Amino acid sequence: MAGTLVVGAGPTGLVLALQLARYGVPVRLIDAAYTPTVESRAAVLHRRRLQLFERMEIGEAVLELGWPCRRVVAYSDRKPVVSEDADLLTLPQNELESALGERLRALDVKVERGVRLVHLEQDAAKVRVYLRGPDGETSAEYSYVAGCDGAESTVRHILDIPFAGPQHAASFAMADVAVDVDLPRDGIALFLAPGNVAAMLPLRGDLWRIILERASGFDAMPSLDDFRSALYLGGVQARGYGEPRWLANYRTTRRRVAAMAKGRVFLAGDAAHVHSPLGALGMNVGIADAENLAWKLALTYRHGASETLLGSYRTEREAVAMRLSRLTGSFAAAGANRKLRERLREAFVGPQIGYARSAAVSPGRTPPPQPGTRAPDGVLIRAGGGAETSIFALASSLRHLLLIFTYRRDQFVHELLVALGRLGEIVETCVVARDAAIGGAHLLDPTGAVFRTYGAEGEPQYVLIRPDTFVAARGALRDYRQLLAYLRELYENAEAPAAASRTP
Ligand SMILES: Cc1cc2nc3c(=O)[nH]c(=O)nc-3n(C[C@H](O)[C@H](O)[C@H](O)COP(=O)(O)OP(=O)(O)OC[C@H]3O[C@@H](n4cnc5c(N)ncnc54)[C@H](O)[C@@H]3O)c2cc1C
Repeated sequence: MAGTLVVGAGPTGLVLALQLARYGVPVRLIDAAYTPTVESRAAVLHRRRLQLFERMEIGEAVLELGWPCRRVVAYSDRKPVVSEDADLLTLPQNELESALGERLRALDVKVERGVRLVHLEQDAAKVRVYLRGPDGETSAEYSYVAGCDGAESTVRHILDIPFAGPQHAASFAMADVAVDVDLPRDGIALFLAPGNVAAMLPLRGDLWRIILERASGFDAMPSLDDFRSALYLGGVQARGYGEPRWLANYRTTRRRVAAMAKGRVFLAGDAAHVHSPLGALGMNVGIADAENLAWKLALTYRHGASETLLGSYRTEREAVAMRLSRLTGSFAAAGANRKLRERLREAFVGPQIGYARSAAVSPGRTPPPQPGTRAPDGVLIRAGGGAETSIFALASSLRHLLLIFTYRRDQFVHELLVALGRLGEIVETCVVARDAAIGGAHLLDPTGAVFRTYGAEGEPQYVLIRPDTFVAARGALRDYRQLLAYLRELYENAEAPAAASRTP
């Protein structure tokens, strides 16, 4: 039986398909549209997405397309009222999509265009889908289906999952246009006025993305004059404007689904939640959904992981969607209120996400980084060869990364490696020492920086990092049986890998 059908080749579906292909899961990607979008649409990528793209080996390509922004400043009455450090890249969504599509092609996965999913039905073992495309009506079976088919999701409609939110729709107008203006090009500027917000985001070249949010809405497609006068009212003294490269208006309500999965069918991205474009979250959250789902599907498909693992996609990402929907209301409605700083941070730095309560995380009160939080990166040296590597580079495959921080040759290391047995297919174990003289060390941390970051300066510790670089478990090495119990619970039925087309 084929692996996974991904429905929709927007940023969410492209990342999901790419990750599945990297992880060796057969994947088919369809899109109802005959051509890729040429619209600029979402324009902000948080630093964390870049870390994912580096693991996907398109980090450099994305960096070349983007423009770095280091701060976001909000102005009210022409005075700066909030200034926050940021770490993000602006780039038009269609350019990101073409970089993702190119990488997919290199992995022998093509986007099948003009193919629309019209119906699906599922039982405990498979999903049957009904498609309409250039070959007429066809039908096929998959182990799993992912609905990444956008805000009007057909998959969501078929599953009959409610998609609720406040009735009030926010209205936006957007333009990508060259502006001759004395605004620093290393940051984002927001101009707040009662009922109106204008934002200027620098794009590569001499372009700016201008976003207007107007509580009263836009009757028609905005003209350049609308942008010019909104910015003028906000205090922007521009000397001139070029011909807009892209103009759009966009009306959206904040909504999210009651459930992000039903049986073997999953929802991700705009199909599961929509946010304000000014919140800079739509594309970022969809990509994060895809990242979360991909490794869980792959470990289930290839290694027969327990249902708890795949079930945790729902619990982890539904909690995120709920939290974000509370935080990402309209800036125009909120104005310069006291929550503005927090809102700006969530939008432009990236929300602080954690999965401490997830069933796919081993609970524990430990020094930071605690289970369920993001693992910090760090530079390490390979023992023997002396080559430099990093924790994120080591964590870029489907296997969990088990770091064992130790100051000595430890009997528990040997015991743990023996006890891992076949779980070694799921876990890559690396012994990290400060000193090359420690026998059995795979990685060295001569300066002790990684030991410090990981709070591992006392007794030997283990830290298990998931393929999405969240900490799955950690503890004192002498308590390694807790780690084994956690791994066995999730992967005890581990079978020989299903036929894999690629080895990550
Ligand atoms: C005009 C506009 C401006 C926007 N501006 C911003 C912005 O400034 N900032 C921001 O953060 N966000 C913005 N957004 C939202 C942002 O584009 C989305 O959050 C993002 O595209 C979501 O990605 P996705 O992959 O989940 O869904 P989408 O990008 O919507 O992709 C869904 C894909 O599924 C396909 N599809 C749909 N139904 C089927 C089917 N039955 N069978 C097969 N394929 C199907 C569609 O053709 C589409 O390609 C904007 C959106 C629009 C439309």
